[in-house]
Amino acid sequence: MTLSKPEMLKQSYLFETEERLHSDVEEHIRQLFSLSHSDNIDEYVDEISDKFIGADDASSDIDLDSLVAKFGDSKVPSHPAEFTSYLEYLADNVIAHSIHTASPRFIGHMTSALPYFVQPLAKLMTAMNQNSVKIETAKSLSFYERQALAMLHRQIYNLSDNFYAEHIQNSQSTLGILTSGGTTANITAMWCARNAVLGAKDDFLGVEKEGLTAALNFYGYKGAAIIGSELMHFSFDKAADLLGIGNRGLIKIPVDSNNRVRVRSLRQAVAKCREQNLCIIAIIGIAGTTDSGGVDSLLDIAEIAQEANVHFHVDAAWGGPLVFSQKHRYKLAGIEQANSVTIDGHKQLYLPMGIGMLFLREPQMAQSIEKQASYTMRKGSFDLGKRALEGSRPAMALFLHAGLNLIGSKGYEFLIDEGIRKTQYMANKVRSMSEFELLAEPDTNLLLYRYIPENLRELVAKKQLTEIDNLFINKFNEYLQKSQRQAGRTFISRTMKTSNCFSQEISIVALRAVLANPLTTEDDIDAVLQDQIQIASEISRLEDEKNYSFE
Ligand SMILES: *Cc1c(COP(=O)(O)O)cnc(C)c1O
Repeated sequence: MTLSKPEMLKQSYLFETEERLHSDVEEHIRQLFSLSHSDNIDEYVDEISDKFIGADDASSDIDLDSLVAKFGDSKVPSHPAEFTSYLEYLADNVIAHSIHTASPRFIGHMTSALPYFVQPLAKLMTAMNQNSVKIETAKSLSFYERQALAMLHRQIYNLSDNFYAEHIQNSQSTLGILTSGGTTANITAMWCARNAVLGAKDDFLGVEKEGLTAALNFYGYKGAAIIGSELMHFSFDKAADLLGIGNRGLIKIPVDSNNRVRVRSLRQAVAKCREQNLCIIAIIGIAGTTDSGGVDSLLDIAEIAQEANVHFHVDAAWGGPLVFSQKHRYKLAGIEQANSVTIDGHKQLYLPMGIGMLFLREPQMAQSIEKQASYTMRKGSFDLGKRALEGSRPAMALFLHAGLNLIGSKGYEFLIDEGIRKTQYMANKVRSMSEFELLAEPDTNLLLYRYIPENLRELVAKKQLTEIDNLFINKFNEYLQKSQRQAGRTFISRTMKTSNCFSQEISIVALRAVLANPLTTEDDIDAVLQDQIQIASEISRLEDEKNYSFE
């Protein structure tokens, strides 16, 4: 048996005396914290990362059981390993089997290639190791972060120069909150909305101090609800749970064939909540659903929310950056009326993982969640952590501010327009190929389609599929997607779509493409579709030959 590098190192220590070991460890730890280290490490890391980023395929074809076997040891090594050998271990065992999210043929998820400037900035960020929770650990960065958030606030809401001059660096105002992702941003939005609607009044100190039961009692409600499309991201399930509303309080409204919330049903749900004496915490509009990229009719939802005097939140985690596009911005019309908006930086702003944002139209809104702490976070301070769910957090604002400056609004416009153009290309391609069926006209840059096995193509063309046929196609597509993922040359994800057929709701397994990677060319799109056709014919051949069933 050959030992991995760290194990070899551990073994070599067995021959040392305890005393010698102790001083070795001491020396080693001193070295770890000293400024001088060999340049070779940086070169080696650059080499590994360049190779990783440059890879064409989506992943290795290792199976998950082998990975489970690799990571089964739970003992902390008693003696430190050498960095170089640890890096080798990392390269062979982890990096080799990581997903090439930057690959132009990895077009199934919302994670893609990054601009090159994020790598040197990441190095700076960890070197500085600021903690954005408070001024005492992040001085200039606190104001720099506020500036970056104000820039995006302006892009969404476009309020007056005076407004921005007054609030951008005002410790009482919060134009935006930087979070670790869209999930935390959505939870924060629901938290602000809940605390605002069930706030202090007369003798009552508000939900924040007295809890949900007391608050509902005081205001005379029987329960609380959040209303939105059935395609709401599951972060709202988390929010409803955490805020004490319960998942039953998350009211999910059906969507139309284009994956947009049915506005009439939404209006009825609001009326029903009123009848049942439920407190509506917020009404949600989605700008780019995670499943299909569909954009709700935000203007209609804004109107409903306004009439009902309820907090209007837009989840634009995915679609938010469409505000940069002259050509596509109209799709988000109504977003400027939202009380709050979520946008992910690590999706269509092309920033590294770990950046979400919540924007607030009303700069005082976040005061409803404000907390103090005696060692810091004092009233009137600029400590960003006092109006945030998260505590200690890295200086991710570096990437956001840099992205806004180094890509600029014109750059982001180009990236958004390109993604949508390529999606149209792929939609036309899929429409023209008998092997595939397009499942919905794309709103943005997500595409839902499916593969149709040869013997069923005529029936699809004549729209004569039976429910049994559909089940067969579902199984086929599920197996196709799994086989494609396992082979690792290319990648498309999979989701479920409901459709009205045979005068009832049926579930359709859909292949889901996300066209966001600027490196993806039309040739790459063709290659991904060809890969699917090849895998599909292999599946069919095996089935015929060996009477083998993929089910
Ligand atoms: C991705 C996404 C989220 C969640 O964001 P995370 O950054 O993954 O936490 C929420 N809503 C929508 C519409 C999304 O696309």
